[in-house]
Amino acid sequence: MITDLSAFAAERGVKYFMISYTDLFGGQRAKLVPAQAIAEMQKDGAGFAGFATWLDLTPAHPDLFAMPDPGSVIQLPWKPEVAWVPADGVMEDRPVDQAPRVVLKRLVEQAAAQGLRVKTGVEAEFFLTTPDGGRISDDLDTAEKPCYDQQAVMRRYDVIAEICDHMLALGWKPYQNDHEDANGQFEMNWEYDDALATADKHSFFKFMVKSVAEKHGLRATFMPKPFKGLTGNGCHCHISVWNADGTQNAFADKAEPFGLSAKGRHFLGGIMKHASALAAITNPTVNSYKRINAPRTISGATWAPNSVTWTGNNRTHMVRVPGPGRFELRLPDGAVNPYLLQAVIIAAGLDGIQGSADPGPHHDIDMYREGHTVTDAPKLPLNLLDALRRFDEDASLKSAMGAEFSAAYLKLKQLEWTSYCNHFTAWERDNAFDV
Ligand code: ADP
Ligand code: MG
Ligand code: MG
Ligand code: MG
Ligand code: MG
Repeated sequence: MITDLSAFAAERGVKYFMISYTDLFGGQRAKLVPAQAIAEMQKDGAGFAGFATWLDLTPAHPDLFAMPDPGSVIQLPWKPEVAWVPADGVMEDRPVDQAPRVVLKRLVEQAAAQGLRVKTGVEAEFFLTTPDGGRISDDLDTAEKPCYDQQAVMRRYDVIAEICDHMLALGWKPYQNDHEDANGQFEMNWEYDDALATADKHSFFKFMVKSVAEKHGLRATFMPKPFKGLTGNGCHCHISVWNADGTQNAFADKAEPFGLSAKGRHFLGGIMKHASALAAITNPTVNSYKRINAPRTISGATWAPNSVTWTGNNRTHMVRVPGPGRFELRLPDGAVNPYLLQAVIIAAGLDGIQGSADPGPHHDIDMYREGHTVTDAPKLPLNLLDALRRFDEDASLKSAMGAEFSAAYLKLKQLEWTSYCNHFTAWERDNAFDV
């Protein structure tokens, strides 16, 4: 475990550190600090005007100090003279309760106080596009069913292999890369880890994918639904909970249905209970709601859920239990804030364990064809406002995420919704000009 960033710099030939914190909208904000100044910064933090980023602060607030977490430092494999180090927000010597990494750390601590260790893996899908983002980068990638397209993934080998080589070098244990279900879309998978480590890796992955794509004259987007008619960018999260030393999977019980222990079932019960509210976090943008509840895509399926349902190894539901000892939440999309994703899963899951929540019946059907037959499951929110209202109504989830965080998040997201509503669209003219 690295504790001294200055010594790390000397050992690894690092010239600059990016002290990086993530704001409420998932933006990564950094200061580039020369190695000569890092010892001081490690003590006092790097100063930011918090209002200038997506945090509920005013221009009159004192400095937000980003305190680097040295144990989580990552040397950029594509530019080894630079190292990225995630940071926690501090103001006047107190943690900033609305800062996403602070929110997650608190929930990880709460789980630890109950002897639980949440381990997760994310599948952060992305598109490679032209630099202006107008279209996918490969004109030959036009198949109706492009998933796992061997020829198309090899046309982007230089980009994908470069990113995968970096993950190998970082010891993340990547194990597969593929062309996904939309033209121009890819997925790269690495091994699951503790929730905070996964959130840091997820953040760094997005930074790395965008950086390597730009190096190749391309652009990468994690936007939930960047192209009409094509499958969107999901960010499924696989979840298991372990004992304190991480040796025993507390979700695994071969004797139980789907191999999911009572603890796992209750944790899942919490996710089901809070699903419509937590969508405000897992599906945080206006565009997110064009991925869930979407009409069938050209490929034949959206691969995104419409309702709050769960099942075994079947990808048409919000939750899939692919095998014993874990489940997959398929709701989150590419816009999700990596820290808030993990935080809200732990918040809902711990609430489920505490209340011995029941996930309800599993519906082992094709939701895309037979979903209308399910009458006992809520529909997911239809738009961002719907989700924000559901989150606002969910007092226990808001309190588990922290009152200060929840108020700040709701306030800034309401402003985003208002900004969207103030935008005039061509659709309105097309449909209302001649009324
Ligand atoms: P799929 O596409 O079938 O949903 P992937 O292989 O793309 O699955 O992604 C699976 C993710 O789940 C990976 O990040 C993997 O490391 C992670 N994972 C596997 N087992 C567990 C587990 N017990 N707990 C948490 N995550 C897990
Ligand atoms: Mg200045
Ligand atoms: Mg996958
Ligand atoms: Mg996928
Ligand atoms: Mg998946």
